[in-house]
Amino acid sequence: MNTTPETFEAAIERVCSTTIAETAAAVDRDGSFPLQSIQALQAAGLLGALSSIESGGLGLGLAGATRVVRRVAEECGSTAMVLTMHYCGAAVLEAHAPIEVRREAASGRHFSTLAFSESGSRSHFWVPVSTAETHNGHIRLNASKSWVTSASYATAYVWSSKPLAASGASTLWLVPASAPGIEIRGPFEGMGLRGNDSSPVTAVNVDVAPSAMLGNDGQGFDIMMGVVMPVFAVLNAACSNGLMAGALRRTVEHAAGTRHSDTGASLADLPTIRNYIARMRVKADMSDALLADTLAAITAQRPDATLRVLECKAAAGEAANEVLDLAMRVCGGAAFRKDTGVERFFRDARAAGVMAPTTDVLYDFIGKAVCGLPLF
Ligand SMILES: Cc1cc2nc3c(=O)[nH]c(=O)nc-3n(C[C@H](O)[C@H](O)[C@H](O)COP(=O)(O)OP(=O)(O)OC[C@H]3O[C@@H](n4cnc5c(N)ncnc54)[C@H](O)[C@@H]3O)c2cc1C
Repeated sequence: MNTTPETFEAAIERVCSTTIAETAAAVDRDGSFPLQSIQALQAAGLLGALSSIESGGLGLGLAGATRVVRRVAEECGSTAMVLTMHYCGAAVLEAHAPIEVRREAASGRHFSTLAFSESGSRSHFWVPVSTAETHNGHIRLNASKSWVTSASYATAYVWSSKPLAASGASTLWLVPASAPGIEIRGPFEGMGLRGNDSSPVTAVNVDVAPSAMLGNDGQGFDIMMGVVMPVFAVLNAACSNGLMAGALRRTVEHAAGTRHSDTGASLADLPTIRNYIARMRVKADMSDALLADTLAAITAQRPDATLRVLECKAAAGEAANEVLDLAMRVCGGAAFRKDTGVERFFRDARAAGVMAPTTDVLYDFIGKAVCGLPLF
């Protein structure tokens, strides 16, 4: 019997409306890693959305990954962020790792993330203070990483350090999470994205092979800005946009289905409530439109592509906070408890603004770009 293969869109919808939707509240309540959801995404081949066909991925690039992250975030912000960081790591591996590693990352057997932020340089991830030194034919790493999403579940970290010998701000490495000397200082106890396992990770005299270098010595900054920044900014925006869409859906359901017994009218019958919902929709649509234009700018290599990349993360992060404020207001006391599910989205949406480059830093970069000043 011939069965029609499941389309990419159908696979996303199936996984999101079943496993991810069903486990999201418990992931948030328990602060547990969304393992079932990631396994379901892997089984559907979706962890390889961004990876090339040569690597065994779906070859759908950043636009495909954006589609997955946005839909996942409508159900579970934690899963969307874990997925975002896997795609970021996979993008670096696609560009700089050997084919065996790229194949593993595309299949999801190698689950990836970034270990850039440090307790010294904090959100200024482009100037790491952690070190890499040659030691008995190995590379010895010492670091205090402050936030690593999926810290306990990643196979290996895409890791930044000062250069070994070259000039430049940084060098990137592929560091196995199981390497002796790595200590994961979890569990993660966050206000939002509570399942994303974003824990500090320290390295004390961790030895890796020289071949663990990703790109050339001293090339880390270029890879961060050329490969990671567009992927992270766009997928972080997709995450914020998905949170807005998920909150909007739940808010509309609540407003349409909740009545005051004295008037017999639903919340949606109140002009004030409809006005708030309209504002939510306008802000969400504006952010989706900017994200679509950012992807178009990247694809066409438009001169404003870098500006759009910076703008889309800042705009989506800010819009998500505004939309979730409105959702909390529309849903009233019911939202203050967990009845509508909206408060989870409210908390999850707060993270985008402090994920580097933070919204404040992005506004500084955007202002510099608009004024014709160098970003760094
Ligand atoms: C849920 C979550 C997941 C994360 N996952 C990862 C991960 O997987 N990998 C990773 O490497 N990092 C990760 N991070 C870390 C993140 O990218 C930031 O580095 C971190 O949140 C910065 O926090 P901080 O307290 O060090 O900020 P600080 O740098 O101390 O900033 C404090 C405040 O100062 C502002 N500020 C800082 N510098 C400037 C400036 N130059 N101009 C204007 N304002 C400025 C900031 O906007 C912020 O409001 C994650 C963070 C979160 C919240």
